[in-house]
Amino acid sequence: DTRPHAPLGDAPEHPDVRPRLTVLSGPSGVGKSTVVAHMRKVHPEVWLSVSATTRGPRPGERDGVQYHFVGDDEFDKLVANGELLEWAEFAGNRYGTPRRAVLERLESGEPVLLEIDLQGARLVRESMPEAQLVFLAPPSWDELVRRLTGRGTESPEVIERRLEAAKIELAAEAEFDTTLVNTSVEDVARELLALMAVV
Ligand code: 5GP
Repeated sequence: DTRPHAPLGDAPEHPDVRPRLTVLSGPSGVGKSTVVAHMRKVHPEVWLSVSATTRGPRPGERDGVQYHFVGDDEFDKLVANGELLEWAEFAGNRYGTPRRAVLERLESGEPVLLEIDLQGARLVRESMPEAQLVFLAPPSWDELVRRLTGRGTESPEVIERRLEAAKIELAAEAEFDTTLVNTSVEDVARELLALMAVV
């Protein structure tokens, strides 16, 4: 059924058609955040959830833009107060999606995009089965290794941990509704927007 992808108002006989929650996931280093950044540039009106994380900012990252950078205690509090829609530990840090902002956007009829790891994608599938799960795959394993290593922002230990995680994450592709292969940032961003029924 392709109807949920159709633009709003296209099918008045299907009042259940509404913008959906779209989850973009895939192995670390595959280029999720590059795709998302490009999408925001082309379509700044598309709302993207800003996650909370206990990871420290990379050079150029700003609090409240790429992430809400929080301490361990603050993250504990978010979890305890039920303020996260989902959260997961990834390569030694915790990451979570603030619940209220996402639900508000969906209720107001806006499409919502989450860029999260595989564990998070599974949790969203459980709690919100209507979400569409999109898997971003690398063109090849070698290319993924190249990208993770070439980023130059992580230590060899961190890269090793992320490659280990990536092996597991690649095997999960079949759980997703759609796979997009990251051959070109522009193409993938366009395909993602089409899946979100933005264009
Ligand atoms: P990075 O440290 O490279 O920014 O992110 C590491 C991983 O955490 C990526 O796969 C990213 O998609 C994922 N991630 C970012 N935010 C969230 C979140 O809110 N929840 C979950 N489960 N994963 C997230």
